[in-house]
Amino acid sequence: MPGPWSRELSRFTLLLVLALILGALLEHVWLVLLAALLAYLARHLYWLFRLERWLARERRAIPPDAPGIWGEIFHHLYRHYRGNRKRRQRIARLINAFRDSTAAMPDGAVILNHNAQIAWFNDAAGKLLGLTRQDIGQRIANLLRNPVFIRYLSRQDFSEPVEITSPQDDDHRLSLQIVSYGEGERLLLVRDTTRLYRLEQMRREFVANASHELRSPLTVISGYLEALSDDEQVQQHWEGPVREMRRQTERMSGIVADLLELSRLETAEQNIAGEEIDVRGMLARIREEALTLGEGPGEIVLDFKTDARLRGVEREIYSAFSNLVFNAMRYTPAGGSVTISWQLQGRKAEMTVSDTGIGIAAEQIPRLTERFYRVDNGRVRSKGGTGLGLAIVKHVLQRHGARLTIRSTPGKGSSFTCVFPPDRVMAA
Ligand code: ADP
Repeated sequence: MPGPWSRELSRFTLLLVLALILGALLEHVWLVLLAALLAYLARHLYWLFRLERWLARERRAIPPDAPGIWGEIFHHLYRHYRGNRKRRQRIARLINAFRDSTAAMPDGAVILNHNAQIAWFNDAAGKLLGLTRQDIGQRIANLLRNPVFIRYLSRQDFSEPVEITSPQDDDHRLSLQIVSYGEGERLLLVRDTTRLYRLEQMRREFVANASHELRSPLTVISGYLEALSDDEQVQQHWEGPVREMRRQTERMSGIVADLLELSRLETAEQNIAGEEIDVRGMLARIREEALTLGEGPGEIVLDFKTDARLRGVEREIYSAFSNLVFNAMRYTPAGGSVTISWQLQGRKAEMTVSDTGIGIAAEQIPRLTERFYRVDNGRVRSKGGTGLGLAIVKHVLQRHGARLTIRSTPGKGSSFTCVFPPDRVMAA
């Protein structure tokens, strides 16, 4: 038994023994015993009272100098309180340091609780989103009414940020990204991307203008080359060079047309509604067209597992699907095979073009949709592609809320799958 307790017990026993002796002497054992116990109880009641007062009012002060077991109780409580106070001070310092550092951050940070109400935000977020202290406790969707953001907020997947026009200034662009943590809490990161957006806009305009400007001279050159190839005298001496010049001009025209198409896709409105597309009919037409290319295997297998239709822009979807099929033909030798399939996967729909062609190394796959990216320049240039086909496919799919997945094994073949979300699929 710890020291204070054994002392308290000895004191109590001594009191009882003394009371018994005194009671025996006075011949009133019970009365004296009762008086002794009452005195003992009164002492404890008094210190209980002091303890309650100290806890209620004076906890910050040094505790009263109590005797015996009460001294121990006050000592323990005071030590506990001091320990807690130090811990609280340390946490408060940490929170202050965190607040100071986030307040100094150039990017905005908003803490949202599980109801998407604002719990806290830093100065940058206040400036970028126009929030004031009164907005704490408000739902973010009531303050930031941009439809793109509202849709983003209701999503489960926040891996990609969204870009919106600043609610403060139409000339500014903001990138918003949500990071989930804890139990339903979310951190909203806000970044001013105006400079990047303008640079991107300038790049887009430059490419569009340059491609546009190149179109007229190219038309003139093609016209003359056509006339030259009709001229017998020229043909006699210059047949080879004129043919090569025509081939190269056609390639340049292809690049210019693809660049213009990419610019159009980039600037056009995203996630467009479009019309109902008969996918099976479209794929059959693409197959016919691909077979006339004179490249690749002599047969293309159609594997339709559904009648589902697609909601989208027919011209764009045609361009994306045909790019994939033409590529499959281009990169598959005559003895190989190409299959086009259309099927439902749950509520999503998938169009897959698979081939038994040359395949692509795993490390190249993530870069295929970059403009002008080619796996093997020499070999591919001879195939006459523009290097922009898959970039166009990616943009078209993005505009339709769909994505492209690529699987490939070098030497064995590749499969390119366009995955369409349920809201694009119209079951037959
Ligand atoms: P290109 O006009 O050169 O075909 P794309 O953007 O369509 O340009 O394709 C980019 C590159 O991806 C191609 O140059 C080629 O190396 C590779 N590629 C595309 N489709 C296939 C395929 N089915 N099999 C093997 N490689 C492919």
